[in-house]
Amino acid sequence: MTKKFEEFPTWKEMPVGLVVFAPPVNGPNPHFKTNTFRTLRPVTDPAKCNKDGLCWLYCPDSCRSSDAETLFAVNLDYCKGCGVCAEVCPTKAISMINELEFKE
Ligand code: SF4
Ligand code: SF4
Repeated sequence: MTKKFEEFPTWKEMPVGLVVFAPPVNGPNPHFKTNTFRTLRPVTDPAKCNKDGLCWLYCPDSCRSSDAETLFAVNLDYCKGCGVCAEVCPTKAISMINELEFKE
């Protein structure tokens, strides 16, 4: 059932535990893609990656695959380019590339 904005409770009236943006249950939320404001793209250098999975573990949007064989591939529909993965990468395998300068 669709509600008007005015019908929603204020934050003080919300029950404890109410989830505003529900996490995806069966995959990413197709209505809330976060790639539209990304300006930097994480690019992994296979020669430097040791497959420890820290980039996957720390990604705040859970948009990296858990598959080491793909070097924890990034789902670019949801990556917002925050650079956390590049920061935590111990081998500096991830470079944050300006989207305007990125070439496949
Ligand atoms: S954190 Fe760096 S070294 Fe570790 S899996 Fe990710 S890209 Fe590879
Ligand atoms: S840049 Fe941020 S959102 Fe994108 S894969 Fe890295 S940690 Fe996740």
